[in-house]
Amino acid sequence: HENPMSQITPASTSRRIDVELGSRRYPVWIGPGLMSDTATWRETIRGRHVLVFSNRTIAPLYLPKIEAGLSGLSWDSYVMDDGEAYKTFANIEQALGALARMGATRDACVIALGGGVVGDMAGFTAACWMRGIDFIQMPTTLLAMVDSSVGGKTGVNLPAGKNLVGAFHQPRAVFADTDSLATLPAREYRAGLAEVVKGAAIGDPVFFSWLEDHAEALAARDPAPLIEAIARKVAYKAGVVARDETEQGERALLNLGHSFGHALETAGHYQTWLHGEAVAIGMVLAAQLSEQLGMADAADTGRLRRLLLQLGLPVAPGALAPAETLLQLMRLDKKNLAGKLRLILWDGIGRARLVPGVDEAAVLGVLQAAIN
Ligand code: NAD
Ligand code: MG
Repeated sequence: HENPMSQITPASTSRRIDVELGSRRYPVWIGPGLMSDTATWRETIRGRHVLVFSNRTIAPLYLPKIEAGLSGLSWDSYVMDDGEAYKTFANIEQALGALARMGATRDACVIALGGGVVGDMAGFTAACWMRGIDFIQMPTTLLAMVDSSVGGKTGVNLPAGKNLVGAFHQPRAVFADTDSLATLPAREYRAGLAEVVKGAAIGDPVFFSWLEDHAEALAARDPAPLIEAIARKVAYKAGVVARDETEQGERALLNLGHSFGHALETAGHYQTWLHGEAVAIGMVLAAQLSEQLGMADAADTGRLRRLLLQLGLPVAPGALAPAETLLQLMRLDKKNLAGKLRLILWDGIGRARLVPGVDEAAVLGVLQAAIN
C-alpha cells in the first residue's frame, strides 16, 4: 500500500531535464531531497570505485547525506580547501593521487559535491584519470545548479589566469538537491539568480516575464518557484549545449554581460564582486550599450535593471576603476577578434547576439556614464 509520505518524496516533486547529446545524453534532476534519494543516483554509478570530491565547508554539511548511498562500494573522499584560490593543479594532482591509492579502474566514478569550483575540478579530474572516467554532479550552489554543473566545461586555474586549462567532459548525470540551498549564504544565492536572469535575457522572453512576476518569491527562496526557475534555466542551457557543445557559435551567447563582468572582477582583484554580481552589472552595461548603438529600447534596459534590483543584485560598477582601465581590461577578452572588441549585445529582451567590431568610443561612453 502507498506510503502517505510519498506525496512529498522527491519522486513526486523533482524535475528531470535531459541534455540531448546522443549516446552521451544525461539527465539533470532538480528537486528537494535528491541527495538522500539514493536509489535515483546510485544506479548511475557503474563500477566499484567512487571518489567524492568536495570542500571543507560542504563536506561536513552534505557528505553524511550521501554516505548511505555509497555502501558496498569502494569509496574515498577528496576534500579541498574552500575557495577559488585553491582551484589549482596541485589539488588536481592530489585528487588523482587519491584515485591511484584506491586502485581506481576505468569504470570508477567521481562525484562532485559542491559549488562551481568543486564541480569544475572534479570534472577535470575525471576527464584526466585514465583519459576519462564517469563523473556525477551534485551541485550545492545555485550558480552550479543553473550553470556550471550542466554542459561539460571542466577546468582549473593557472597563476596566469582563470580556467586557462580544461576539457569538455560531460557528466553522466546531475542531481541538484534544492534542499542544500538552505545553507547557502545570501550573497552567493543572489549571484546564482543573476545567471538565471541571464538565460532569460539571452533567449527566453516568456521566462523573463515569468521572472518579473516571481521576483519577490525568488528573492525569498520560495521553493516551488525556485525549482521552476532552476528547471527553466537548465532547460534553456541544455538546449544551447545540445546544439553547440564545444562553443563554435550559439553557446558563446551564454557570455552575455561577461566581457564587462570579467573586467569588473579583474579590476576588483576578485575581492569586490562575486562572478554573478559582476555579470549582473555587465548585463546592464551591455543593455545600455545596445541602446546607444540603436539596437534596443531603453524600456528593455529598464526592465532588466528593475528585475536585477528586485533580486538584490547590483546594477552599476561604482567607483571601482576608471572607465579607461575597464576598457583596457575588456581589450584582453578571449572573444575579441583581430584586435577589435567583440561583445554579446542584444536587440531587446530574449534576443542576444554576438556583435563584432564594437566601437570603443561607445563602450567608453557607457562605462563613463555608469561610473558617474
Ligand atoms: P564556489 O564553488 O566557490 O561556492 C561558493 C561558496 O559557497 C564557497 O565558499 C562554497 O564552499 C560555499 N558553498 C557551496 N555550497 C554551499 C552550501 N550548500 N551551503 C553553504 N555554503 C556552500 O562558487 P560557485 O559560484 O558555485 O562557482 C564558481 C566557479 O564556477 C568558478 O570557478 C567558475 O569558473 C566556475 N564556473 C564554471 C562554469 C562551467 O560551465 N564549468 C560556469 C560558471 C562558473
Ligand atoms: Mg558566468
